[in-house]
Amino acid sequence: MEITILGTSCMVPTKERNVQAIYVEYKGEGILFDCGEGTQRQMNIAGINRNKIRKILLTHWHGDHVSGLIGLLQTISNNESPQKVVIFGPREIQERIAHLLKSVSFEESRMDLEIKELNPRGVEKIYDGEDYIIQAAYLDHKIPCLGFSLIEKDQRKINMAKAKKLGLKEGPLIGKLQAGHSVNFKGQAIKPDDVSHMQKGKKFSIILDTLPCTNAYELAREADILIAESAYTSEMEEKSLEYKHMTTKQAALIATTANVKKLIITHFSQRYKTNKELEEEIKTFFQNSQAAYDFMKIKL
Ligand SMILES: [Zn+2]
Ligand SMILES: [Zn+2]
Repeated sequence: MEITILGTSCMVPTKERNVQAIYVEYKGEGILFDCGEGTQRQMNIAGINRNKIRKILLTHWHGDHVSGLIGLLQTISNNESPQKVVIFGPREIQERIAHLLKSVSFEESRMDLEIKELNPRGVEKIYDGEDYIIQAAYLDHKIPCLGFSLIEKDQRKINMAKAKKLGLKEGPLIGKLQAGHSVNFKGQAIKPDDVSHMQKGKKFSIILDTLPCTNAYELAREADILIAESAYTSEMEEKSLEYKHMTTKQAALIATTANVKKLIITHFSQRYKTNKELEEEIKTFFQNSQAAYDFMKIKL
């Protein structure tokens, strides 16, 4: 899994930072979280192929998170054979996407679009695929806003040295063992656990526009990587309450309480010309942390 942060600004783009979008590539599939204005160009610069996008997950309907969506959809519809795209998002998604598609003139009928309105109660599984699941939960922002976790399923890893000792070679029998089935080989029964072990899947959570809330803690629990908003440094707590955004200290508190391995903060107010001050501060609150920057890549 590779995560590319395409924008780190809150509300408006600055000279150094674009607004929100986070691209995740997993086994060749592109999953885009939010699509602020300018996301397509950020993708060009990051060398991301838009044709790979299969899922778009929207946190909420504030412009800095969605105003690039129509441009991206139009580009996808122009492909020779447009790929199917599923858009997941908070309540009102059907009406809003319908309005959006009407707002410009293009051949939307060429698109294979599926819209899924999410209304999770607490933390809920909203997608269950072969390799990973996605969870969503409502957070505490000015308008309904979702947080997400992408959780890779545990995978069986074959120890080829052990398999070879039993005389096994790469092939269908190994495939069966990999799938968790016992096999018979030269009169002996071999169980999957004899030649393999389960490797725990990785978990990655995104908690953008919100105040700290129970669902944010729940979503982030035991995440390998938590990307959380920190619009402000800690002395700005009053402002953060007013606008329902988090400070560095609040993001760090979630990471600590939820036992997160690594914290990456993003969604910075334009009052900060660079992320230096935020980076310095977050490190005092949570050791394994970093302030994101546009085009930052994280391997998981
Ligand atoms: Zn925002
Ligand atoms: Zn917002």
